[in-house]
Amino acid sequence: MRGSWFTCTQYSTTTIRLAWRQNCQQTEYFKGIPYRTIYPFRSTTTKPQWDSVYWERDGAFGESEHENFMAPLYLKSDMLARTRAYSPLSNRSTHAKPVPGGQTRSIPFVRLTNSIPRLFLCSAASLSHNDQAQTNNNNGDIGKDGTHSAGTLSVHGGELGGRPSVHDSLTTPIVQTATYTFENTQQLIDYQEGNYGSYEYGRYGNPTVKVLEDKIKALEMAEDCLVSSSGMNAACTMLLALVPKGGHIVTTTDCYRRTRQFIQTFLPKMDITATVIDPSDLGALEQALEEHDVSLFFSESPTNPYLRCVDIPKIKALCGPKNAAVVIDSTFATPINQQAIPLGADLVIHSATKYLGGHQDVLAGSICGRSDLVAEVRRMHHILGGTIDPHAAYLVLRGMKTLDVRVERQNATAMEIAKRLQDHPKISWVHYPGLETHPDHEIAKAQMTGYGGVISFEVDGDLWRTAALIDAVRLPYIAPSLGGVETLIEQPTVVSYWDQGPEKRAEIGIKDNLIRFSCGIEPMEDIWADLVQALDTI
Ligand code: PLP
Repeated sequence: MRGSWFTCTQYSTTTIRLAWRQNCQQTEYFKGIPYRTIYPFRSTTTKPQWDSVYWERDGAFGESEHENFMAPLYLKSDMLARTRAYSPLSNRSTHAKPVPGGQTRSIPFVRLTNSIPRLFLCSAASLSHNDQAQTNNNNGDIGKDGTHSAGTLSVHGGELGGRPSVHDSLTTPIVQTATYTFENTQQLIDYQEGNYGSYEYGRYGNPTVKVLEDKIKALEMAEDCLVSSSGMNAACTMLLALVPKGGHIVTTTDCYRRTRQFIQTFLPKMDITATVIDPSDLGALEQALEEHDVSLFFSESPTNPYLRCVDIPKIKALCGPKNAAVVIDSTFATPINQQAIPLGADLVIHSATKYLGGHQDVLAGSICGRSDLVAEVRRMHHILGGTIDPHAAYLVLRGMKTLDVRVERQNATAMEIAKRLQDHPKISWVHYPGLETHPDHEIAKAQMTGYGGVISFEVDGDLWRTAALIDAVRLPYIAPSLGGVETLIEQPTVVSYWDQGPEKRAEIGIKDNLIRFSCGIEPMEDIWADLVQALDTI
């Protein structure tokens, strides 16, 4: 064997050590590998067994608690064999596929025992440009091989080559059907036994929805994804599926009101109890894990509306040994700013109504992550029936094509406006994880690449002075929701918590002078000028 070839794809330069698990003395150091550079790795082993890949970064080496890391793998040996190992959390190799002129060979799943977001180790991809082009165009590999950036995945993930093709249409067709037909009984039996790939009934799946699931899966580096009719549906179905009767969950103080309501009013009917902790109180989490049989930890990060961030790797380190799943609602972050799965989350939830859809014209939700957990949720979903309509799925798919550019702009706008608001005399406090004054700034800095488009801030005044500011803005719409192309402004006290009354609001920490401001994609200076004219009126 002349040797195998490896590519290492990553965003920053670092030192990586690869070791055969069988023979750990046999290591190679790749230093300072730039993004998408192909490096040769000469192996003297004729039959390498990739049981494990260890990596070393900045001098630190060894297995860590973060096991769930996507490690797409390509191998091209003298035989021109190529195999894709695509399922990082289960010990199986999947999706073996031949390269043109080569043979398919299966190699074991590769587990990265530590993680750097968006670091991919790809063996042997000395693929020529032509090989790559053919892969992308014909084999639907975008989003599956781990070599593409989030921007490319937003546009093409799940779609290019991987979707149903009707009349060679460029866009993904909307398969608007409630049921699916079979030619005869044998075909139906083949379907039941997994020998004929199709769909059976709309509640159990749809080709347009599947493409959306594949896109989110690719962006979140998840094993599996389920899309449903709303973010609330995703969260409630997940809780019903994964928490047993009499079970216990840990959740955080700051969260979307309806999620809190479900946990506090409905789950107790199944004798499910909850410990509610401050997002940064890891001691309280540890205690809850000691005192209860905790099924899962569930938190938004950043949270709604105070944009608190939880330390996902540390939470995983505590929950993992206790078999408690870590579930992160990443709606405010988007997969552009935060990939919670490589950080340690077992599941990631989105209200796709927000940034993923991005145009305030559709409701949708997603849950992705470990395939065994998603399968449990899917089973419950097939019963409860929170099915997304295919047309709604198409709207999210279309919205997601611009996710990367929208979020990049919203990040920049929000950061600048947060800084300017902080210096404004009529603003008493700004909650934005990109600001050093935010209690979770260091956590956000470590696990996010952008801080998101939502800013919460407190007006120096009471409920009515705050309302006056809201009434004086001209550019943002006064509306609930967030994450779309239009800037939205709302006073949580009035929009979401009016019925709670002042005492209850105070108890759950919703301040009357709080404004939640979701930056759209309008130019920042226009948004700022409008805010300034409104501030001048109060
Ligand atoms: N998660 C978060 C963080 C939210 O802010 C919301 C809604 O605002 C939801 C979930 C619920 O999503 P949906 O409105 O799509 O049901």
